[in-house]
Amino acid sequence: MLDVSGLRAGYGATEVLRGLDLTVRPGEIVAVLGANGVGKTTLNKVLSGIVPACAGEIRFDGRPITTASSAAIVEAGLIHVPEGRKIFPNLSVRENLVLGSYKRGRARRPQTIERVFSVFPRLRERASQAAGTLSGGEQQMLAIGRGLMAEPRLLILDEPSLGLSPLLVEEMFALVRTLNREGLPIMLVEQNVVQSLDLATRAYILENGTVALEGDAATLAADPALRRAYLGL
Ligand code: ATP
Repeated sequence: MLDVSGLRAGYGATEVLRGLDLTVRPGEIVAVLGANGVGKTTLNKVLSGIVPACAGEIRFDGRPITTASSAAIVEAGLIHVPEGRKIFPNLSVRENLVLGSYKRGRARRPQTIERVFSVFPRLRERASQAAGTLSGGEQQMLAIGRGLMAEPRLLILDEPSLGLSPLLVEEMFALVRTLNREGLPIMLVEQNVVQSLDLATRAYILENGTVALEGDAATLAADPALRRAYLGL
């Protein structure tokens, strides 16, 4: 579904992504893992048309989107739930969800809101509450729910576990698994190596703006080099 090859991007003279290759196939959860500052968020911003690529190609569903606008990328169904949630704090939960279908998913908005409320019952209970007054975990659910409102064909989640308690991280990852089982392909960008490998089908480990290790998630979880570098084992 998503095919990234030889991707280079950065900010001014600073190159952050240095020739990155990765793919996400239908039905998969693909984890993109790496330490702070390795370029995970930059990758998401390039995929979403916010930061331009300097070289390489991005194809979504067989079509090139390397130079497409953010609006066109959303229209195509590549939906990004950003790091730090970026909800609208002064709008209600329902208004935030409605905005998720501003560009794509308008026609089935009422049905999709119902679906989001059934996946995240806590959002239904708080539908008219100002989003800024939700707890961190609830805000993360809202950010994902808002992404679902656009009827994603591929959902990119940028560090959904950031700032959540261990129990909430488990709950969040269980929800990600449920969404995937319902047929949604997911690219999960995370620092949380252990739980992400447990959840994912395949994974890529980024270092220095390129892919250092890749493969089947279970195989990578048992890889001695990865265990040494990321788990201190
Ligand atoms: P984290 O896990 O901490 O969120 P990350 O892997 O997502 O990190 P990025 O946010 O992609 O990392 O940042 C990669 C590098 O690019 C960092 O060195 C960062 O300082 C730099 N960078 C990010 N945004 C900008 C910007 N707007 N201008 C200049 N440099 C930037």
